[in-house]
Amino acid sequence: MTGMLTYDQARMLLFEGVPTPVPEEVPTARALGRILAENVAADTDLPPFRRAVMDGYALRSRDLERGWFRLRVVGDVPAGGSGARPRVGPAEAARIMTGAPIPEGADAVQRVELTEALEGNEVLIREPVAAGAHIREAGSEVRAGERVLSKGEEIGPAQVAVLASFGRSAVRVYRVPGATLVPTGDELVEIGATPAFGQIRNSNGPMMLAQARRAGLNARLLPPVGDETRALREVVANNRSADILVFSGGLSMGERDHVREAIEKEGAEIVFHRAAIKPGKPVLFARRGEQLIFGLPGNPVSTYVTFELFVRPAARRWMGFSEPGPPVARARLREGIRHQPGRLFFKPGRCDVSTGEVWAAPIETGGSADIAGFARANCLIEIPADREVLEAGEATTIRFLDCVAMSGAHPDG
Ligand code: AMP
Ligand code: MG
Repeated sequence: MTGMLTYDQARMLLFEGVPTPVPEEVPTARALGRILAENVAADTDLPPFRRAVMDGYALRSRDLERGWFRLRVVGDVPAGGSGARPRVGPAEAARIMTGAPIPEGADAVQRVELTEALEGNEVLIREPVAAGAHIREAGSEVRAGERVLSKGEEIGPAQVAVLASFGRSAVRVYRVPGATLVPTGDELVEIGATPAFGQIRNSNGPMMLAQARRAGLNARLLPPVGDETRALREVVANNRSADILVFSGGLSMGERDHVREAIEKEGAEIVFHRAAIKPGKPVLFARRGEQLIFGLPGNPVSTYVTFELFVRPAARRWMGFSEPGPPVARARLREGIRHQPGRLFFKPGRCDVSTGEVWAAPIETGGSADIAGFARANCLIEIPADREVLEAGEATTIRFLDCVAMSGAHPDG
């Protein structure tokens, strides 16, 4: 194991290889899950005018102080109404709706529940109110020109509302890289087919496509490619325009493992091949100009894990995320775990926070090929390379998998 990169070392090389995020302008309606490439300033005060925050009567608080509780109703102010607004003079009030502009002369609103409409267009105010009651001043939330969103922020639904509030129908965000995904292996058949003896269904293809979409990438899946240098070279040669090119399979030391050779012969520079992790030791990362090329080991669990540990963070960094994940937490173990030291072990686990603390339980699977067992996992439990045993109750690092809230939506839905 000596000489192999640790995960942290590999991750550093990975991030050094990621190009600078590129800004582009997109309609705000399509900006969900993207990172802002500009600061956004308010184009108007919010609220834009002095307005009522309750249904009731706009009045002069000093009238009530003087003991004038019977007021003459001089008009109605609905929200959004463009008609002439009444002026409120001494011993007068105007009916007003939440969100409507305060009429001139009034300095407070009394809630409708504390009033009583009387005969002859009068209203009885049952309780006094202080000046300013139930009024929100213009600009009291945000002043025109003030910064409301910052470069580097992720756009969630609330940020969409902020952009909309200040008239931004388009916004500058960082570009989403395009990823081309390539399963490899002579034994692979499409999922609609019944595998003949020795064949298996191509599950990595659809899995990587799903992972790429969850990561927010624009992804394209190619049909499986056979274990043949010429065919693999053709794929590398024909996919120069993909920002990210991901292969699964064909990376081990076998006679039919030609992915590395194909990538090298097509002019890419290998940044690293192999890391001291389990699963995923044969992982490969290469660059060709600004293109990032990944070789992921073909065992489905290894493919899944290395996609999350390498492809996703690189892609999210390129999309402008300062914390490209996967998100990390400290969790306590429900059961002890034993493993052979030497490599950082990512043990499939299930974490829960129902007790208010993060707990994680290891999941027993049939190893790197057992995607059905792995499908129950929602986190990876880390066992450091120099540890043989982690005890029940001990705290360790976990990495969340498939966190919908933290992973961002695919920009194309
Ligand atoms: P490899 O990395 O090519 O040596 O493949 C390791 C194991 O993963 C082999 O058992 C392959 O059959 C399996 N495998 C490779 N590619 C896929 C795929 N696309 N879908 C499902 N299993 C695969
Ligand atoms: Mg293979």
